[in-house]
Amino acid sequence: MRRKIVAGNWKMNKTPSEAVELVNMLKPLVASDDVDVVFCVPAIDIIPAVEAAKGSNISIGAENMYFEESGAYTGEISPAMLTDAGVKYVVIGHSERREYFAETDATVNKKVLKALEHGITPIMCCGESLEQREQGVTMDFVRQQVKIGLQGVTADQAKTVVIAYEPIWAIGTGKTATTEQAQEVCGEIRKCIAEVYDDATAAAIRIQYGGSVNGKTAPDLFAQPDIDGGLVGGASLKEDFGNIVNYK
Ligand code: PEP
Repeated sequence: MRRKIVAGNWKMNKTPSEAVELVNMLKPLVASDDVDVVFCVPAIDIIPAVEAAKGSNISIGAENMYFEESGAYTGEISPAMLTDAGVKYVVIGHSERREYFAETDATVNKKVLKALEHGITPIMCCGESLEQREQGVTMDFVRQQVKIGLQGVTADQAKTVVIAYEPIWAIGTGKTATTEQAQEVCGEIRKCIAEVYDDATAAAIRIQYGGSVNGKTAPDLFAQPDIDGGLVGGASLKEDFGNIVNYK
């Protein structure tokens, strides 16, 4: 049985003091014995959020990371900086980073490998645009993102990776994919993992759905056989995040 994982992606929201307030507000609402709960927060919020989350079931994640160890990369954050600050997860290849910051499947792959090397669990994002869905190439596109993103990742490492399937047309739009659409693609991703690795790896890897998830849509989505939780943007900043974590 795969353990469910619900991760919030705060995006570029909340100052450090606001981050502490939000962690403290959500802490009692997201308490759960069955679900891994992660708050992926802006880099500057990581240290205060880790401090505020101490003693709770919340793990703090980053929203991005660079793939080099250290050096002349002004403005970037290294994996060692993240682990030293107490980070356990990192979102890699979010569609907003692909669109606005020129991330590619190749850079996603480098970041996934580097995160794993440092013991940080990558939440590797994939997902098609509306145009691609209408062209009927969703599966080809998502399979390619997953295959390239995981190049060089061993089966044992892949078992620990989290894949977030996020159709771009459903992110921040209020348009959740239907349960059937979400399950169909998450199931296809699991098949792809079985082809690239083996059945045991496919059975172990956790696949989230992301795209306008809220407390009302979470129960049906998370009940699907291949959906192991969610990556949540807007609703992760509100009380409703507690309903998503405690979806049952
Ligand atoms: C996201 O940022 O990954 C996301 C899914 O956002 P939202 O839930 O707001 O659509």
